[in-house]
Amino acid sequence: MPFSVEKIRADFPVLNQKVHGKPLVYLDNAATTQKPVQVINRLSDYYRNENSNVHRGVHLLSQKATEDYEQARTAIANYINAAESKEIIFTRGTTESVNLLATVLEEWVQPGDVILVSAMEHHSNLVPWQQLCRRRSAELKIIPVDSKGILDLEFLKKSLNPQVKLVAVNHISNVLGTINPVKEIVGLAHDAGVPVLIDGAQALAHTKVDVQEIGADFYAFSGHKVYAPMGIGVLYGRQTWMRRLPPYQYGGEMIDRVSFDEVTFNELPYKYEAGTPNVGGVLALETALQYVQKLGIEQIRKHEDLLLEKATNQLLQVEGMKIIGKAPDKTAVLSFLVDGVHPYDLGTLLDQMGVAVRTGYHCAEPLIKQMGLSGTVRASFALYNSEEEVDVFTDAVKKAVNMLR
Ligand code: PLP
Repeated sequence: MPFSVEKIRADFPVLNQKVHGKPLVYLDNAATTQKPVQVINRLSDYYRNENSNVHRGVHLLSQKATEDYEQARTAIANYINAAESKEIIFTRGTTESVNLLATVLEEWVQPGDVILVSAMEHHSNLVPWQQLCRRRSAELKIIPVDSKGILDLEFLKKSLNPQVKLVAVNHISNVLGTINPVKEIVGLAHDAGVPVLIDGAQALAHTKVDVQEIGADFYAFSGHKVYAPMGIGVLYGRQTWMRRLPPYQYGGEMIDRVSFDEVTFNELPYKYEAGTPNVGGVLALETALQYVQKLGIEQIRKHEDLLLEKATNQLLQVEGMKIIGKAPDKTAVLSFLVDGVHPYDLGTLLDQMGVAVRTGYHCAEPLIKQMGLSGTVRASFALYNSEEEVDVFTDAVKKAVNMLR
């Protein structure tokens, strides 16, 4: 399918509006992506025509909802090339996926053990492990990141030993745009017998994700960052792990048999899906992934890389411009600072000019502080952003900087 930004934009109703009297240029895609009509319609169709609880009813609507829900699980498993659909556990998003894992790995971590995370983690893939280590008297060790935004793999190699119980790193950094060599990281960790969680929150919208090729034991992502609704996400967990780990939450759906004294738990993945799931969200996530697949992730990546390169080159014309994150393998995220200009002031002026960016710590406070910064401005790109929008954005930055200086 030819990649036509104009045609793509027609699928995203929210983009067609003015803010502060200016056409909206939405560059906060790392926070959340906009939704195409196909996804909005799928969600709405479910509530208009199918709404029913899954796995419970003998009636037709419930059977149809159950069928569609399980078919979506299979499609999502295929999309990330999971070996089996039972390895797909539906959650509210990356944050819940990581918290789920940090809860069920409680007994796996003993006093004196080590969990390795990187310095470029989002709080969602840092605080759950920090708190688990605190509860278990274990040590949280941080894999450093260099000034370009590249992970120190030598440190990782040196730190791997039998006391390490997990390596948890992101696939793509939401601050730096760095694409981490996740397959290599998994290889190193597995050579030392250590399991790995990959936080894929930023990855699905920008790069191919093949969990078997990466080899990770666990892989987490959020639907809303890949054109699906908020409130739906996935924890991919290898069955060999998830079968032997304890449940996360207790209640309906996750049980097999219950008496007043005893319970046996359901099989995978239901053991980890207590209560009524977000059925509409699951169906819409399937539609969102179909949308991406139809355009082709390689084409999307090529387009976004072009936008990133153009925006970077144009921003570098501004005096005092500092790009934060210069890893050679980088995508879709452009964090920057301008000497003598506060990121918040710049973000506020950009908003007045119709350009939506994010400012601040981007939920990675330790990384930003370690870099000696108090925040950055972040523009992040998606498949519907155009080269014209990059021009509007970089012109707006130039104008705002002149006003603020
Ligand atoms: N991990 C990364 C790398 C992220 O960028 C984000 C969100 O920005 C998260 C985790 C958390 O995702 P969610 O808020 O959808 O749970």
